[in-house]
Amino acid sequence: MQTESRKNKLEINKLQKRLRRHVGNAIVDYNMIEDGDVVMACISGGKDSFTMLDILLNLQKNAPVTFEVIAVNLDQKQPGFPEHVLPEYFESLNIPYYIVDKDTYSVVKQKVPEGKTTCGLCSRLRRGTLYAFAEEIGATKLALGHHMDDIVETLFLNMFHGARLKAMPPKLRSDDKRNVVIRPMAYCREKDIQQFAEQREYPIIPCNLCGSQENLQRQNIKAMLTQWDKETPGRVESIFKSLQNVSLSQLADRGRFDFENLPLDRTGEREAYAYDEAEISSSNLGHEALLKVVNLP
Ligand code: SF4
Repeated sequence: MQTESRKNKLEINKLQKRLRRHVGNAIVDYNMIEDGDVVMACISGGKDSFTMLDILLNLQKNAPVTFEVIAVNLDQKQPGFPEHVLPEYFESLNIPYYIVDKDTYSVVKQKVPEGKTTCGLCSRLRRGTLYAFAEEIGATKLALGHHMDDIVETLFLNMFHGARLKAMPPKLRSDDKRNVVIRPMAYCREKDIQQFAEQREYPIIPCNLCGSQENLQRQNIKAMLTQWDKETPGRVESIFKSLQNVSLSQLADRGRFDFENLPLDRTGEREAYAYDEAEISSSNLGHEALLKVVNLP
């Protein structure tokens, strides 16, 4: 029994370290949190936001910069929402918090025809309320609990169903420039968060209170990614990394890259890349040898 609990503790520590490292790296890479920031941590009561808050509070203790964390929950008045859970949790942590009451549930029910997906309008209303509240309390950053899997899923959702190469950025300034959203868990995998949340035994609030089915298209993409991840571990990480490593000239967006104006310039050195690169590397031919093979002067 004692060995079991020691093993659990070690496991939590390991996971916590990994999550903390990923969150710390994302914060540094995107300059997410600066000295004096007031970070409004948006807590829905799901595993992701609980984990984000946990890790942010942990980092706050040792960070080289001083920042404040305020937990905020938006009570959307969904039927059966256990109103006491989050205040009790925040009080147990002894951190500043707000519960914002806004009945977006009724608005969504009224406006969206039966059988249609409600998530679009619901998210827009939620975002608007949280942005306005952040300003009200003087928060300089809004932290959301999205993770790497969410980001990669969104990429495919947008590609498959919106024909756009667009994901969910680790840091975003709102269109009106009045708020900056950060996603400190952009480098964290959902499976780690899931495991961590189970071990921490957070008082998770179910996310299906609104009665809406989880978006079927997202579910399909999730299943596809899970399968890929099983067959080729590391694939989700590679896809995410590709979002950090974009070659606009190798895509086809005429608005982002000036394909129309690519004037010839033969004054510089000739490069070998015009030939079959695979052949060059597999046969280990240098540039000189290659020119002989293709009979160029
Ligand atoms: S699942 Fe429910 S609460 Fe979540 S975004 Fe959709 S409608 Fe809103």
